[in-house]
Amino acid sequence: MEYAFQLPEEKLLPAICPDCGAPGTRPRRVHRVAAPSPHGYKGRPSLDAFYCDLCADERSSSKTRELALFAACGLLAVSAVTAAALGWGSRALVLQIAFTSAASTLPALALSWLGAWPERKENVCIEERGETTVISCRTRQFRRALLEHGFIAEAISESPSVQPSEDSFHLGSLGPFPRRALTLGALGFTWLALLHSLGGSTVRVLVSGHQQAVLLIDGRHGGLVDPTNDEDPQAGLSTRILGGRRTLKLYAKTGESLGEQTATLWPGRTYIVAHLAPGQCLFWEQRKYGERSRPSVFSPLPGLGPVWELRHHVDSWFLPLQAPGSKEPQSEDDWQSSGGVRRAIRLRPCRSPAPP
Ligand SMILES: [Zn+2]
Repeated sequence: MEYAFQLPEEKLLPAICPDCGAPGTRPRRVHRVAAPSPHGYKGRPSLDAFYCDLCADERSSSKTRELALFAACGLLAVSAVTAAALGWGSRALVLQIAFTSAASTLPALALSWLGAWPERKENVCIEERGETTVISCRTRQFRRALLEHGFIAEAISESPSVQPSEDSFHLGSLGPFPRRALTLGALGFTWLALLHSLGGSTVRVLVSGHQQAVLLIDGRHGGLVDPTNDEDPQAGLSTRILGGRRTLKLYAKTGESLGEQTATLWPGRTYIVAHLAPGQCLFWEQRKYGERSRPSVFSPLPGLGPVWELRHHVDSWFLPLQAPGSKEPQSEDDWQSSGGVRRAIRLRPCRSPAPP
């Protein structure tokens, strides 16, 4: 049974607990049910009901439980979506989307279904009905108190009186279960999109020889690589691969395997995948800012390949830090560096990395 009263602008609610009818001491904002109005809420922006200590505590703790459950479901969704995205990479996107919707909504729905995530029952709430603001209550004692305080009974309805209007849809007009599922689903999909847009690592693919090669990422075509036998800033293929455990393979167009390695790619880092001609090696060329008169230091990339992780930022790809043939290094004034060390990736003969 539900009772409705007109809400006069100037009146406070009686100090009677709307849940149990005991004398109320602790004010709590009265819940407003869907109040579709193009100009926002009419009347008073907020109104307090006075709950007894027991009911106020119960409401606080149930709100805390609800928040904790929501956070747990959100964390579960984020972890599951992360695992799926890193595991599958750019493969099986449809499966990832299906998994995301299941992982973000099913735990909340299951908890609600099992009753572990109960719906909070509002025994008093405010509604906008046409031109009047109405306060509805479910408990007899509170209704009696309202009558004693001069509130006018407007109508008595037996069914929940909230009728979501069709022309203005908002989240509050949904039930609590679809609302939770929708919010968690939105969280899951936002996280999936973020992972796919920001979780990539940069991969530079180089192939020596005279024919094109194919890059396979986890068995899927990842691009065609033009051969390169000399240093060229545009050499090879630069691509982005979603981080995670990836198997990278290089095949010549004739079907011959040029190299294969399973490596963990970390988001935001840079990697080189290369099949090099015998006698050619990859080097870091490093020079400290301010040491323009000294020659650069060359050090081979650690590891055997074909996948190398670059531990430093690359300032220049396959371009000498020092202009070839000139005794003076290029002007340091042009360096976009605030100091420290400037580094280039070089493709040089293994025996003599430094130019004569
Ligand atoms: Zn109470």
